[in-house]
This record gives sequence, C-alpha cells and structure tokens, in this order.
Amino acid sequence: MGTHPSLPSKDVETQRTLLDLVQDNQALMSTAITERYGGRLPFLFKVLSIRKALSIQAHPNKKLAEKLHARDPRNYPDDNHKPEMTIAITPFEGLCGFRPLAEIAHFLQAIEPLRKLVGSRAASDFEEIVKGNEESDDEAVVQRNKDALRSLFTTLMESTPENIETASKELVSLAENSPASFGTLPGEVATNPTNPDELAAIIRRLNGQFPNDIGLFVFFFLNFIKLSPGEAMFLKADDIHAYVSGDIIECMASSDNVVRAGFTPKFKDVDTLTNMLTYSYAPIEEQKLAPTDYPYAILNATAYSSASSCMLYDPPIEEFSVVKTDLNRTGAKLTFDPADGPSIIICTRGKGRISVGNKTEEVKEGYVFFVGATAECIIENTGSGEGDDDVFTTYKAFCELTGRASICVLVHHIQYTRLYIKIQPSSLTMSGRYPCRLATHIDLNIRACRDT
Ligand SMILES: [Zn+2]
Repeated sequence: MGTHPSLPSKDVETQRTLLDLVQDNQALMSTAITERYGGRLPFLFKVLSIRKALSIQAHPNKKLAEKLHARDPRNYPDDNHKPEMTIAITPFEGLCGFRPLAEIAHFLQAIEPLRKLVGSRAASDFEEIVKGNEESDDEAVVQRNKDALRSLFTTLMESTPENIETASKELVSLAENSPASFGTLPGEVATNPTNPDELAAIIRRLNGQFPNDIGLFVFFFLNFIKLSPGEAMFLKADDIHAYVSGDIIECMASSDNVVRAGFTPKFKDVDTLTNMLTYSYAPIEEQKLAPTDYPYAILNATAYSSASSCMLYDPPIEEFSVVKTDLNRTGAKLTFDPADGPSIIICTRGKGRISVGNKTEEVKEGYVFFVGATAECIIENTGSGEGDDDVFTTYKAFCELTGRASICVLVHHIQYTRLYIKIQPSSLTMSGRYPCRLATHIDLNIRACRDT
C-alpha cells in the first residue's frame, strides 16, 4: 500500500493510482511532505503472511543506497534507505541482529558442523579475541570484537557450495539424532529461546524449505526472535534480519532495496552484505519496540467501557509511525484528531465504518483507505458482537513532519551545568518552517529545566 512505482495503490472506484491522486492534489499529503519526499508517500505499508522463510537480508543506509543504485539499478531500484518496522498479528518468528558473542562462541563449540564449515582456525581466532571480553563496554574492545565477528561471518558466507552441502547434511542429522546439542548453556546469556528441541526443530524445518542453504548456519549468528501479537521490532538501516513465520504488519520507508544473502532464489550479494553490516551484537530485547498510548484520539463511552485501545508504534525516524486500534464492542467509536500528513488505514479484523468529512464507508477485513492530511477521521465498530465479529482492529500508518505527539523526552546525559535531552522526531510542536529532525539534541540550562 503506497505510491511506490513498482505497484502503486489504486482508487477502487476510478482506478486512478494513489501516486496520481496525491500529485494532483498536494493538500492530500500537506505541502511540507510533498516537498520533502518529491510528491510521493514517504512510507510503504504491507501485510506479510510468512509461510516460508523470507531471505536473510539487510537494507542499505541512504548513502550506500545511492551508491548501489548508481552501480546496479536493476538489482537496486531505489536510491533511498529502508528502515522497517514489524508488528506481529499472529505469533511471529524471525532472525534479527547478531547474537551476544558468548552465544556465538558457545555454538561454535557445541555445533560441530558449524565449526567445520568456518574452519577451526577461523573459529579459534574468533574465540581468542572475544573470550572474557564478550560484555566489555570499552570502545576499543568492542571494535576489536566487531572486527573478529566480521571476519568470522565473512568466512562463513564465503563457504563453497560443496562445503555448505556437506555441513548441512551433518547439521540436519545432528538436529534429528541429538537435538540436545542445540541448547545454549545454562547460566549463559539466555536472550534467545534456549529449548534445544525447539531450535533443532527449526533447523529441520528451515532445511525442508531451503535444503543445504547457508542460512542454516547464519541461524547460529543471529538472534532468534519471537513476537507475540501486538509486539513489534524496528530494524535500522544495515541491520541483518530474516522473517521465518507469522502474519505481520510491516511499515517501511518507501524503497525496494534489499541486499540478500541466504534463504532465497533471488540475486545474492554476499560481498555488499558482509561489508555493509554494523556487526553490533546485542540481546534481542534491544530490537523490540514498545508501543505507547496514542493520545490524539478520543474514544466514546462504549469504547471506554469495553477497554478498547489505541496504541502508537513510533520508531525513531520521520517517515512513518503506526497506530493500532482495537474497538472491542459494537458501537465503540474512535475519533482521530486531524493529522498533519497522509494516512493509510487497513482493517485486519471485524466490521466497521469509517467517516471522513461527510463521506462514510463500510469497512471489512482487508479493506484499505487513504486519508488525506488535516481530515478528521472517525472509525466505529458495527459488528454483530458475536464470535470473531466482536473486535474491530485497524492499523493506521501515517507521516507527520510537524509532530504534536509530545510524549517521549528521554534524559540522555547529564553534565555539570547542562542537561542533554534527546527528543524523538514527533515530540515538539514546530511550525512547518522548522521540520523536526531525527534525534535532535537540545541542551538546556539545567537551572531553566529545574525552574520549569
Ligand atoms: Zn527487510
């Protein structure tokens, strides 16, 4: 859903593309957003239903995207970056970011086919460097660790197809015959699911989908993440990830650039991938993004009494945020304040109505609406109140450069006389002349701060 030229959304009645509509009437997006994003919607909104793992990939940052696009426009169709956010609709499994180093070191010891594939030399080089330093905060040590990880991961990714095939067979037989070897050590940093049977089962499942694929081994380098419905994660540029299963809502900056390296029949670019990654290694909790109450909407009495909710997923970028609304009973109604930018709303459950100005439309599962800037939008549950029909769920992606959501002011760092606060992009009321910027640092005199 969006205006990306590869497959722009269309008006159901007139069949005009959304791209055409917003370029014809700039007020639909607001002048500021039209100017900033060249007359295109800044985000792409998707529903993914993942039955088979999606490729191991990363999305280039803005600078690298421009370079790749200039060099190879066929495989890199956009010059834009592509940060993305995932919200689980059903239980979700995926791979995301590098595991804490102690876990990688543990698997190198426990999973013999992995050690054989990277070679015992590369494995012991890595072990020597990181041992005892896995959790150091010292910048020089962290950099040395990252270099060691880059070198080991690159060695893995450059394995020959023959070696991958041999090692895969051994790995799958290990998963079938001694799943116990897949457990992480008790007492180790247990950020990933530690049930050995579960991990061994995933390896067997992935091998069924992509036999003898390098991705089976990448699994031991990356965090295995599970999201419950409503939980979300945010992927910055250059973060490595793969989606394994589940139904999700995905929102991303409008771009189609993917650097792939496994679990895919598509073009793989291992060189670019191994060079672009940041090699940050961290527990999965750091990749999750917690929603907050969305304050710019009004619930009616029925919505309140049925514990209906309106939650904001607000990643630290300016291209998009997403609001999830559950209206839990027939007659429950929610009024969004007019937004200063375009929105796209999709219904994933139940039945309802949407009203914008004097126009009202019926809403069902799978229906999608575009709502222009500055329009007040009302949604209401009109279901029968029985079975699956009781809850009316919508997701609304939107972009606002002149944010009003003054929610999140984090104390960042305090020095003697100045207090540094980090302000999320949508956290200040600013006039259109001063569009918000990401992670703006404002230093306030600490006395002024105390006084207020
Ligand atoms: Zn992706």
